[in-house]
Order: sequence, then C-alpha cells, then structure tokens
Amino acid sequence: MRVKTTIGVDIGGTSVRAGVVDRHGNVLDTARAPTPAGETALEDAIVAAVGGLATRHRVTGVGLAVAGFVTTDRRSVMFAPHLAWRDAPVADRISQRLKLPVVLEHDANSAVLGEHRFGAARGAKVVLLVAIGTGIGGGLLIDGQLYRGAYGVAPELGHLRLVPGGRACPCGKQGCWERYCSGTALSATAVELLARHPGRSTVLLRDSMDSRAITGRKVAAAAREGDPLAQRAMSELARWLGEGLALAADIYDPEVVVIGGGVSESATLFLDDARDHYKKMITGAGYRPLARIRTAQLGDDAALVGAAALAADAC
Ligand SMILES: [Zn+2]
Repeated sequence: MRVKTTIGVDIGGTSVRAGVVDRHGNVLDTARAPTPAGETALEDAIVAAVGGLATRHRVTGVGLAVAGFVTTDRRSVMFAPHLAWRDAPVADRISQRLKLPVVLEHDANSAVLGEHRFGAARGAKVVLLVAIGTGIGGGLLIDGQLYRGAYGVAPELGHLRLVPGGRACPCGKQGCWERYCSGTALSATAVELLARHPGRSTVLLRDSMDSRAITGRKVAAAAREGDPLAQRAMSELARWLGEGLALAADIYDPEVVVIGGGVSESATLFLDDARDHYKKMITGAGYRPLARIRTAQLGDDAALVGAAALAADAC
C-alpha cells in the first residue's frame, strides 16, 4: 500500500516548486516550473505540477506557501509583490481544479513550521525564523502555534527601521533592516566600500567594473577567497544581523532563531560574528538566557515541507 502523503508548493517570484511529503517530513518526489507572469498561467502551472505528482502518489491534500499576504481565513491572497494575485480566492480555485483540499499559508510561516516539526527548531517553544535572501522574511511560532497577527501580516521584520536616515528602501522608508542585511545589502555595501577604498579589494571584486555585477553571491564568494573588502562587507552584514536580532529578541524573546534564505548558505562567513553583536546589543546582556541562533536545516525545502504539514493537519 502506498503511504499517505500531502503536497507542499512553494510559490515564489522566480519558481513554483511542488513536493510530495510524507508524515515524517521526507520529500519523496518533486516538480518545478518557472513562475509565469499572469494569474491564470500561474494557477495553470500549479495545477500542472501538483496534478503530475498526484498521479504517482496517494495524496490527501495540498498546501500552498505563498510569498505574500494571506487573508486571516487563509483562503485568499490579498497581495503578493512578486506574483500576479490581488485579492484572489486562490485556495478555492485550485481546490476545484485539482479536486483536492487546499490550504494556503505565507511562505515564511510555512518555513518556520517546517523547521519546528522536522528541522532546526524541533521541540522549541518560541521560534523566530529570519529568511535572508533578496530581502528579509520573518516567521514566528509561539507555543507551537504560528503567530500571524490580527490581520495575517505579522511579523514583517525586514522593514524595521534600524538606521535613521539610512539607505532608501522600495517600501518608501529609509534605513530598513533588509537594506543592511540581505543579499542586496551585501552588494550595496561592497559597491560603497569599493568606491571609498578602491585599493582594498583584490582582483576578485575590482574586476566587476559594472556595480550591478557585484551580486551578494559574488561578494560571498570573494569573502571566502579572502578578499578583504568582501570580508568587510560580510562583517557589516553580521553586525546588522546581530543588531536586528537583538531588537527582535527584545520583542519576542525567542528560544531558537532559525536563519534561512539563500544568504544562510554563507552562514560560516558571518554567523559567529552576528552572535557576538547579538549578545552585546540585547537588553540585559549577560543577565538573561540567550536564544540559540541556528541555520535552517531543511534549506530550500522548508516552506514546501511546512505547507505540506499544514495540509496534513487539515486533511
Ligand atoms: Zn523598507
């Protein structure tokens, strides 16, 4: 007899990734497609990916993890900056087409749930997930339950203002945390440092004549190769990560902080440093227990696995 499974789908700005997940959080089979621009095409892509997997597995439900705001009843997407949906009843539409129960959740919420059930935050009571990628995504779990806020949009950590009068942010504010702690921030810091100290970088970064070519990934690679300027950019990121986490910890007092997202792949370059800043910046430093700060264990699959677990709970 085939095992009972659910399908989790991670719907991001660049790709739609679906995975068949068993009750232990194992990903048994996957399908992937680029994210189409239009609303109908996006739903077609999800239905095609899930439908294909459902023919090969005994699937009882589907969980959709969406990079966007989800209504409190978790049936509709209110707004998603990188997706076509606006006030769209996504769960019901996909459910009707697939003839399967569908649940909807924010992607960072799905990821923190996945890490709590099967990854780096197992057994912890209060868990904060900080996903560092192009920007910062946040997920919070209190006493084993997702905390979504009164209107479903909490916690929006990336746009906490850490630096008054700092770098401009597309959200309209200045000095937001993610302007100093993200892949985009690594690139911006390296470009600034290169303009100020052109002699401090080895050929690794200086060769990138066009500042747009200095991506966060490139800065991380250069830091790993020993480029002093890239390492300085990395320690700036570590500083702001530590400062932001100290602020978040003063509000949430988490037991475990999980660092996820693409930038966490370079955690060995900044995490110890960030922990030191965190320890110094937290209120009552030295006189209170500190959150354990860990990197995500499920990696790229965290949101998909968490969404599948939510579907398993609901179906
Ligand atoms: Zn902002």
